[in-house]
This record gives sequence, structure tokens and C-alpha cells, in this order.
Amino acid sequence: MRRRTFVQSALATAVAASVPVGQLLAASGRSTTKIAGDITAITGSGEAKVIEKAVVEELAASLRGRLLLPSSEGYDAARKVWNGMIDKRPALIVQCEGPADVTHAVNLARDYELLTAVRGGGHNVAGKGVCEGGIMIDLSPMQGVRVDPKARIAWAEAGTLLHALDHESQLYGLATPAGVVSHTGAAGLTLGGGFGRLSRVYGLTCDNVRSYDVITAAGEFKRARVSENPDLFWGLRGGGGNFGVVTGFEYQLHPVGTEFLAGAIMHPIANAREVFTFFAEVESTAPNELQISSNAIVLPNGKGFVSMGLFYNGDMAEGEKIMQPLREFGKPMNDDIGPMKYVDIQQRIDRNVPHGQRYYQKAGFFDGIQPGLIDAIMDIVDNPRPFSTTLIFSQVGGAIKDVPNDATAYANRAAQQQMVLGASWPKQHDQEDEYIDRVRKAWQTIAPFSNGVYTNNMMGDEGTKKVIANYGENYQRLVALKNKYDPTNLFRLNANVAPSV
Ligand SMILES: Cc1cc2nc3c(=O)[nH]c(=O)nc-3n(C[C@H](O)[C@H](O)[C@H](O)COP(=O)(O)OP(=O)(O)OC[C@H]3O[C@@H](n4cnc5c(N)ncnc54)[C@H](O)[C@@H]3O)c2cc1C
Repeated sequence: MRRRTFVQSALATAVAASVPVGQLLAASGRSTTKIAGDITAITGSGEAKVIEKAVVEELAASLRGRLLLPSSEGYDAARKVWNGMIDKRPALIVQCEGPADVTHAVNLARDYELLTAVRGGGHNVAGKGVCEGGIMIDLSPMQGVRVDPKARIAWAEAGTLLHALDHESQLYGLATPAGVVSHTGAAGLTLGGGFGRLSRVYGLTCDNVRSYDVITAAGEFKRARVSENPDLFWGLRGGGGNFGVVTGFEYQLHPVGTEFLAGAIMHPIANAREVFTFFAEVESTAPNELQISSNAIVLPNGKGFVSMGLFYNGDMAEGEKIMQPLREFGKPMNDDIGPMKYVDIQQRIDRNVPHGQRYYQKAGFFDGIQPGLIDAIMDIVDNPRPFSTTLIFSQVGGAIKDVPNDATAYANRAAQQQMVLGASWPKQHDQEDEYIDRVRKAWQTIAPFSNGVYTNNMMGDEGTKKVIANYGENYQRLVALKNKYDPTNLFRLNANVAPSV
């Protein structure tokens, strides 16, 4: 039997005194997991491997959090992620309460070469935070956020959702740029780059990380920042979960205030061509303070709407002047532009993308919206499908572009828009494969206009070449980092950088 590196003195004492581990844990008040026998788990290369009962017991005993097996209460809830299409059953789920639990889980995963999933907020559309037959390192219990208003810094644990980060920071009128749906995990978003309403002024989320606390594949703690492990710091800024489990993030906050001029202008779907043509014009000359997202929703019956979501990060009177021509354009069905609280703005579209719905999407970056792209959009708008179809163009650019592509691992800084073609339906049914096929076909008309794809929005069926191409000229440097920090590719359930050693 392999001896575990995480054997604790409590366990050793229990063994020496012949006290059953379960009894010891129960006496300590910790929830116990019934471990009936050896466990068979899947390795990263797909082989079945037996983990002896005593080793599983050691792991359970080493944790402050819970170890869940398929027979455990709470197992099914823990393996659920945002996308209801994902239905994977890990052999073990380690619900981590802190870096020590993460270290024990990583040590076991590495020693047994297990297929390893790392779950932050569970929002990844491809469901990479959970795995079939391997180990799931679940960080969702780690939700602490601490803010130093004077130094304008926030520390967030790895299971923190964006809402918690905003909520704590906004008490002092502070914020860091992050995503536009508040139930997204800060960890996965930040590691892949991260952008949202404030990014055109303050850059990517990862540009605003001052330091990361990381547990590497070797089970070692590393702090990554400009002055410490700078190579790792570089790689974590856009390189995803390739190099270890990040247990804590230190974010730079900005004094943005608590109210912004924001809202949406909605037009009939019949006017989609005019609205997208107008969006193409205005967004190319918009100041960085203005962030526009242009969306179309097409329902199976052909109904729907097209909208421009506006957000102004600056003086409201100035914002009103800048938004005026957008508000005067065409004949909107609705316009709710006005002063709004930042935390409310950040939650505005939460209910449109609920947990548990079934989602499939394609995504890409664009350097501008050319007439051919508008024709491709109209082909989708004019041909409703038997499911709800969403086209979302989010403006990026601005301060994101000001940082050179090789300054961080994130390599898509030149993009002007990020676009998602999404499909969703509420329940599993027989035509899902056909639905997915129809989204892929629709994407083929749009893809020629795209230039790269946001790794965080990959569906997992893009192929290795696309992942590599996406890291661009940074790829070889990422491979060197992978060789150093994760030479056996323990952390492979991500936009993977395969080691070359
Ligand atoms: C509705 C919706 C809206 C979105 N909006 C935005 C947006 O506005 N801006 C934007 O930038 N992105 C956006 N995204 C994409 C988002 O960045 C990704 O879904 C991201 O993966 C979410 O992070 P998570 O922690 O919730 O994901 P999880 O599913 O928990 O994790 C995804 C992957 O991240 C890695 N990971 C997570 N936590 C850690 C960790 N602590 N250490 C190491 N690796 C880790 C792992 O590889 C894991 O497989 C959106 C996604 C959705 C579904």
C-alpha cells in the first residue's frame, strides 16, 4: 500500500491506539464519510486504479472539510455545476475548507495519478470543474472575502462568487473589473483572464491581481506575484488552471463609486440588422468609459428582441451626453437607462442564465463587426431554431489592449468584441444532438470573421489545435512553465497546455 504524504498525527495516534478512524472523527465533531472498502478511480490517462480503504480513510481524517463518495449524503448536490447538461460522477469529492485540505487532495491525486477536476464557482460551460470517475477538488466552501479599503485591496478565497467580491468591495465604493453575471466563480474567471463592464478602463481581471496563493502539483505552497515566482505569476494571468490550485487571490480595487449610468435599450427583433449595423459604427469610436454589449434573443416562434446594454464608468452628465445618440437611434421598445447601483447592474442578467438549464455555445473574439458578419448574424436571426438562441457581443478593447500580448499569458488583447452564440433548453430530450449540431452549423457562418476564442468560453469540443493557437506566441513559454510546475499534467481539465517532458 502506498503511504500517504498527508498522514496526520491524529491518524497515527488512532492507528497506534487501535481506535477506528470513524470513531475518532465522530468524537472530534467532524462529519464522517462511511468508507465501505477500497475505491476504484480513473487516472488521467483513463485507467482504473484502486485506492485502498485505509488511504481513503487517511484522506478523510486529514480534512477540515468533507470527503464525499457516491454513497454520501450531499454527493449529488456537490457534483452539480452550472450547465445542466453536465452529469459527471467523480469517484471522490473533496470539499475543501482551506489550503491544507487542498494540499491533501492534490497529494492523493498526484500519488494515484487521478483524473483531477478543480471546481471554483462551477460556471464553466464545458463543466470542467467536475469529472467522471476521478477526484473533484471542490473549493466552493472557501468563500471568504476580506477588503482593506485604505490600501484598496481585496483578498478572496477560491470558491468566491463575483457577487461576494462586489458586495464586500462596494461597501467602500470600490471594485475590481470582473464578469457580468454575479453567480460566476471569481477563480475560473480570473485565471482565464476575466473581463466585464469595468475592463475597458481597468483592464482584465487578471491584470488586477496582485498575488495568487497556489498549491502546485507537487503539493507545495507558492505565492506568485511580481517579486516572487514571477514566471508563475505571468502564467496564472490567463493560463487558466494549468499550474496548480489557486487557493487565494489578492485583487487591486479601484475607487469607482456605487452608482453608474447604465441600462438597456431594446428594439424589435425585426430591426436586428439596423441595430447591429449601428452598433458596429458606434462601438468602434466609443470612449473607454462606455461599455456596450449588443445582444439578440431569438425564440423558437421567431419572436425575440435585440438590445444594446450600456454602462458608463464616469461622470453621469457626460455619460448622458455620450449615450444620447444611442438612445435616439430607431424606435426602441424600451429604454431603462438611468443611474443604478453597481451591485444591481452586476446582477441584472443573472436570472436569464439560471443554474441547471441545459446550455451549448460557441464563442469567438472579433476585431470589428464587418458587413459579412452582420449577414451571418441575420441568417441566425431570420431562421429560428426549436430552442432559444442568444447572440451576445460584449465590447472589450480599451485598457485591455494597452497591455502587450506577451506581458501576461492571456494572448487575445487586440480583440474588440467577444461574442457568444448560445443555445439553451430547460430539460433533457431526444433531439439534443440535433440541437447541438444546429448550433455548430450556425457557428460555421460566423467563425470565419472571428479571431481566437476566450478559453473560458470553450465548449471542450474545439480540438487541441485551437487551444494552442489561442495562446498564440505565449504557448511555448506556457509549456516551459507546465514542465516546471505540473510535469505529469495533473491539472488537465482546462484549456490544457500539455507538458513536453
Ligand atoms: C453565464 C456566464 C456568464 C459569464 N460571463 C463572463 C464574463 O462576463 N466575463 C468573463 O471573463 N467570463 C465570463 N464567463 C466565463 C467564465 O469566466 C468561466 O465560466 C469561468 O470558468 C468561471 O469560473 P468558475 O470558477 O465559476 O468555473 P469552474 O467551472 O469552477 O472552473 C472552471 C475551470 O477553472 C479552473 N479553476 C477554477 N478554480 C480554480 C482554482 N481555484 N485553481 C485552479 N484552477 C481553477 C479549473 O481549470 C476549472 O476546470 C461567463 C460564463 C457564464 C456561464
